[in-house]
Amino acid sequence: MIFMKRFITLSSGSNGNCYCLSSGDHTILIDAGIGVRTIKKRLADHDIDIRSVEMILITHDHGDHVRGLGKLAQSLSVPIFTTSVLHNALTNCGYIDESLSGCVRVVRVGAVFEHRGVKFYPFEVPHDATQTLGFYIDFCGTKITIMTDLGYVPQRGILCASNSDYVVVESNYDVEMLLNGPYPAELKKRVLGEWGHLSNEDCATALQKYYHKDLKGVFLCHLSKENNTPERALEATRRRLDYLKEHYGNEPVLAVLPRSESAEFVL
Ligand SMILES: [Zn+2]
Ligand SMILES: [Zn+2]
Repeated sequence: MIFMKRFITLSSGSNGNCYCLSSGDHTILIDAGIGVRTIKKRLADHDIDIRSVEMILITHDHGDHVRGLGKLAQSLSVPIFTTSVLHNALTNCGYIDESLSGCVRVVRVGAVFEHRGVKFYPFEVPHDATQTLGFYIDFCGTKITIMTDLGYVPQRGILCASNSDYVVVESNYDVEMLLNGPYPAELKKRVLGEWGHLSNEDCATALQKYYHKDLKGVFLCHLSKENNTPERALEATRRRLDYLKEHYGNEPVLAVLPRSESAEFVL
């Protein structure tokens, strides 16, 4: 029996991030920045039993990515894969009271690892956490690059995305909205900086660098509530995409991931 491969977003943005890769054989979570009950409910909405989760990947130690991790790990007792630097940071980050010791699995930046037949390649992205990872995932033959929370897209990220069927990438803010918006000057500087977040424009420019004729989809994640709108994020990348797909002749899906509800995409 051939099972459908799906990418499911459970929550995306500063309110909490949690993504799922699912097939009949696998349920993989990326980040756990929302509560266990919400994860359980939203997975169930897509006919996935939370008990089928087999592993959790962690991108970095900011609260919106790990707030629910302690309780989730405690209730599921599944392996948590991230670097030793990030495992150490998780125990001191203040968001996790539970001991994760039985769940710790250490991965290295730049080294492929495999779990139950799925291959993962973690790479570093620039962001102001203790360390921040992007992942290139060979999910049963479908290649996916996930890059959330990054000041700019590093060369390694472009390379991974160039070899991916699907790319999940941050499109955090519209520059004009950020500059004219309510954030204090210091915070604006942080978001705009190389260790902050990716603007719609930078996200679109990166697309131009990694676009290839076999690209099947681009999912824009981690949109700011104050400094962006789904329309603006879409518009920026849509413009480049329209030009590129005409040139290359393929028709990749483009979607914005909702902030506080789930959505699924068949891969
Ligand atoms: Zn974040
Ligand atoms: Zn972050």
